[in-house]
Amino acid sequence: MAATYVAGGELEYGRYANPTWTAFEDALGALEGGRCLAFASGLAAVSTIFDLVGNGEKVVAPRHSYNGSIMQLGDLELRERIQPQLVDITDTEAVVAACENASLVWLESPTNPAMEVADVPAITKAAHDAGAYVVVDNTFATPILQQPLEWGVDLVVHSATKYISGHSDVLLGAVVTRDDQLHGVLKGRRDLFGAIPGTFEAWLALRGLRTLPLRVERAQANAQELVRRLRERPDVEEVRYPGFGGMIGMVLPEGGIADLVQHSTELWVYATSLGGVESTLERRRRWKSEPATIPEGLIRLSVGIEDVEDLWEDLSRALDSART
Ligand code: PLP
Repeated sequence: MAATYVAGGELEYGRYANPTWTAFEDALGALEGGRCLAFASGLAAVSTIFDLVGNGEKVVAPRHSYNGSIMQLGDLELRERIQPQLVDITDTEAVVAACENASLVWLESPTNPAMEVADVPAITKAAHDAGAYVVVDNTFATPILQQPLEWGVDLVVHSATKYISGHSDVLLGAVVTRDDQLHGVLKGRRDLFGAIPGTFEAWLALRGLRTLPLRVERAQANAQELVRRLRERPDVEEVRYPGFGGMIGMVLPEGGIADLVQHSTELWVYATSLGGVESTLERRRRWKSEPATIPEGLIRLSVGIEDVEDLWEDLSRALDSART
C-alpha cells in the first residue's frame, strides 16, 4: 500500500510504480499476450490513448462504441483537437475505405450495446497499410474469448471494472501492447497525468482474475441458454448475440415496455454496469448520450453466474408482466 519508498531503491514514488499493480499487469499482460499498464478506470485508459493522436488528425471509430468513448471523441472534435469519423463496423468495406489518412482506428468488438462484431484482421491490415494504429476495446469478450493482439492489433484496452475484476466493486482500466515504444509513451503519460489505479483496486482485480475463465465460461453458458429461450418468445422483437460471451441485446417493441421490464425483475439488478458475477439489465436509451440508432426498446443484459433457471424464471416473469 506504500506511496513513498526509500530513495535510491528500485521503486521511487507511488505514482510511477507499485508492486501490486505490477502483479496485476503481469497477469493481464500474459492473458492478452503483451505488456499491460493499469489505469484508474477504463475511460482513463481510453483518454490516454486518444491523447496520443496528433492535432487535427483523423480517428475512425464505431458509431456504436461505448458512449463514454464516443463522448470523448465528440469533446475532442468540439475543441478542434481531432477529426473523428464514425463508421458501421459491420460494413468492412466502408471501414477499410475510412482508414485512408487515419492516424488511429478504434474498434470495439462486440460493440456496447449494439453487439456488432468487426472483421478485426481485415480492418487491421487496411489501417496498417494506411499507417494508422489499431486499438480494440476488448471489454466484452475478455482475453478468454479473443486476444486481438494475435490479429496484429497495436493496443488492447479494457474497462477492467467489468469482467476482469468481475465483482462490481472496483473501477479500473488497462491497456496492453506488444509495442515497447507505445508502452513507454503510455507509461510516460500515466506518470505525468496521474491516471493511476489504486493499490487496493489492483489487488482486488488480481483476485478477480483468478476466476475469470470460470466466470466467463459460466456466464457464456447461461447467456447461450437464455438466448435460445428468448428467441422463442414472440414478444421479444430481436435478440442480439454474437454467439459468444455473456452480453445480450434484447429488443422489445417499445421503450415503455422495456422500462417496465427493467423495473420488475427481482434477481436481475437494474444497473448500468456489466461483467459482474450478478446479472444486470438496463434499457440503454435511458441515457441521452446513446445514439438514436440504438432501438428505444433495447435492453442490455449482462448475464452473471447464477443458476440459469432462476435467471429465466425472473426474466420471463418480468416479460410476462410487461405484456399484460
Ligand atoms: N469500454 C467499454 C466497452 C465499457 O463498457 C466501459 C464502461 O462501461 C468503458 C470502456 C469505460 O470504463 P470505466 O467505466 O471503467 O471507465
